Amino acid sequence: MLNQQKSILIVGGGISGLVLAIALRRKRIDVTVVEISPEWTPKGSGIHLYSNALRALDSIGLAQEIVAAGSAHDFYDYSDPRDEHRVRVRYPRLAGEELPALATITRQALHTILVTSAQQAGARIRLATTVADMTEGSGSEDGDVLITLSNGQTERHDLIVAADGIYSPMREKYLSRSNLIYSGQAIMRAVLPRHPDSVDPKIMFAGAGQMFGIVPVSGDSVYLIAGFAESEHKRYDRDLLHTLLQDRFRPVFGGLAPWYHDRITDAGQVTYTSIELVDQPPPWHHGRMIFMGDAVHASPPYLAQGAAMAIEDAIVLAELIGSDLPFDRIVEDYMARRVPRAEFIKKTSLERNRLRYQGGTYESADGTISPRMQHLRNTAQPLIDELYMTLAEPI
Ligand SMILES: Cc1cc2nc3c(=O)[nH]c(=O)nc-3n(C[C@H](O)[C@H](O)[C@H](O)COP(=O)(O)OP(=O)(O)OC[C@H]3O[C@@H](n4cnc5c(N)ncnc54)[C@H](O)[C@@H]3O)c2cc1C
Repeated sequence: MLNQQKSILIVGGGISGLVLAIALRRKRIDVTVVEISPEWTPKGSGIHLYSNALRALDSIGLAQEIVAAGSAHDFYDYSDPRDEHRVRVRYPRLAGEELPALATITRQALHTILVTSAQQAGARIRLATTVADMTEGSGSEDGDVLITLSNGQTERHDLIVAADGIYSPMREKYLSRSNLIYSGQAIMRAVLPRHPDSVDPKIMFAGAGQMFGIVPVSGDSVYLIAGFAESEHKRYDRDLLHTLLQDRFRPVFGGLAPWYHDRITDAGQVTYTSIELVDQPPPWHHGRMIFMGDAVHASPPYLAQGAAMAIEDAIVLAELIGSDLPFDRIVEDYMARRVPRAEFIKKTSLERNRLRYQGGTYESADGTISPRMQHLRNTAQPLIDELYMTLAEPI
């Protein structure tokens, strides 16, 4: 049994690490978070938190605050590249009628809420720190771990949770057979001032997986998402990212896209991410170290469910750590509750993305709706309804 007086070390102060720290502190369990970055600068621009993520965040009292700091929505508009033909897809409110189907927020605002909440809850947080070494086994009856931190300090903890993201050094060191796979796609992102008509989240689709999303993330800002096929994992000169975005997307997308292109004037506004996924066969633990989030199940973000899965992992793990279960049962139950759901999301995300490549262009030749866009109209809502039948299940 993990005595509640004992302590948990979380490696990684990203989304799942901070949510776990908050959830454990709500149970009065001692928590230390080590984060390798010297300051809080979350990567990326904006994020969607669909209602399964909000349901998990609501269980630790954070959903309302996140919705208030971001933007609340109940549907998404999908359209052809000129934004002439659309389909509006409704998402369910899995977190109850008080919370929306979807909250969108800047990564920075989300992180500020999570860091503040973890600190206020009493989590010990060490920036610019990581685990240098780990030795299992001595001390208490139930076992513990001797940790040497990168600053040379040694500490004993009862359990280590690796929440160190898609490139997880902990996974590379302690788990075997993992595979980081390039998806063949890249995404460019930016946060910009909001055009008054950008009220609802929208994605315009062109052919061959090319898409341009405009997502309000607060009263005065939007998150732009521009995705495209990229045969190899490329690295571009950072100073040219705004030019790359303009060259690829300005000729293709209409609606409000040109208005936003006019406001992308500096490479510093744009990020470029090669989309990768982690294929990590279970078990997702090594001795008394348990893994969660992107470290073991990063999936392409086409369903916008990566952080949702990582948040759910954290809530389930906190519940199990706070229970009377012995360590072996904690691990067993965690795997049974999390592996199938995370694998389902990865598989569904890849399948839905493949559909985007089939069936030609969404663009209409003569102003009438294209067959591809008509197909999206017919299938988008049923596919979302089907996905949410699984997401609605208790975690
Ligand atoms: C383009 C794109 C768009 C996305 N959009 C969405 C979306 O809309 N909705 C959604 O739900 N998901 C989305 N995701 C996925 C989501 O960002 C991730 O699934 C989520 O951030 C995973 O959380 P995590 O806690 O596992 O990892 P992270 O949030 O990446 O945190 C890992 C942390 O560990 C730290 N770290 C790394 N190495 C060490 C070390 N050795 N020691 C200590 N600390 C370390 C890192 O600095 C970081 O702070 C998107 C992903 C991409 C690429």
